[in-house]
Amino acid sequence: MDLGLKGRVALVAAASKGLGRAVAEELAAEGASLVLCARGEQALRETCAAIEQSAGVPVLGVVADVANPSDVARVTQAAQERFGRIDILVTNAGGPPAGTFDTLGPEQWQAATSLLLTSVVELTRAVLPGMKARGWGRILNITSISVKQPVENLMLSNSLRAAVTGMARTLATEVAAQGITVNNILPGYTRTERVVGLADVTAAKEGISAADATARWESQIPMRRLGEPREFAALAAFLCSERASYITGTSIPVDGGWIRGLL
Ligand code: NAD
Repeated sequence: MDLGLKGRVALVAAASKGLGRAVAEELAAEGASLVLCARGEQALRETCAAIEQSAGVPVLGVVADVANPSDVARVTQAAQERFGRIDILVTNAGGPPAGTFDTLGPEQWQAATSLLLTSVVELTRAVLPGMKARGWGRILNITSISVKQPVENLMLSNSLRAAVTGMARTLATEVAAQGITVNNILPGYTRTERVVGLADVTAAKEGISAADATARWESQIPMRRLGEPREFAALAAFLCSERASYITGTSIPVDGGWIRGLL
């Protein structure tokens, strides 16, 4: 299937590692030019060089914290200057801290709101006028399975990703007639640095091995294994493509069957 991504320009946020990087790699393999951002310069530079070399497409890296609106403005401006447009926006950020309601104070709520919700609003605000002017656009938000089935001890993620989902669904209706789709893709437990690190932390806290901590997650997943970032990225690339032109306002999990709900 030709996804029709050749020559499109995609901005993938928080993309030096993990899911963001996997999505960037898949879009590049389909011929899209890339603008990537992340906070750490070294990892971002390495990722951009690796993708540029393997896919042969131009990749611009901009060091930026998506929780900071002025950084978001800098990224989108750099993208405009280099490529003249942004056709595809993939929003992403690091995960917020775990915790229950009683353990989280106002500062943590504020920081998580900037990281997970404001970042999506500001990135979207920056790309939307150009997409409307050209009558074509793809906005894809990386959220979490927690929007369909809240995960215990993840109060901030459960709450703020639901807010992103509400915003995206509302925006999808507002811009549908202008050729712009807005969707969310929901990772389940996927083997990224963050999840490997989480297994180590859980192991140290509970006096078990990291393999045992991972096995506990796997026991809740009908496929009995973690997902691979490439499996996630395949759907992401499709949703960003020409071929997904009649899909908007949806939230689609890539979770090995973890969510037990009907819809
Ligand atoms: P990861 O830690 O492997 O990679 C995160 C990437 O985001 C890195 O490139 C990092 O540099 C960048 N980043 C982090 N904070 C940033 C910021 N403020 N500004 C710019 N860049 C930033 O994480 P991942 O596993 O790829 O997860 C990505 C997102 O998906 C997270 O929000 C996570 O909570 C969510 N998620 C992941 C899983 C999973 O199993 N991997 C499951 C559900 C939800």
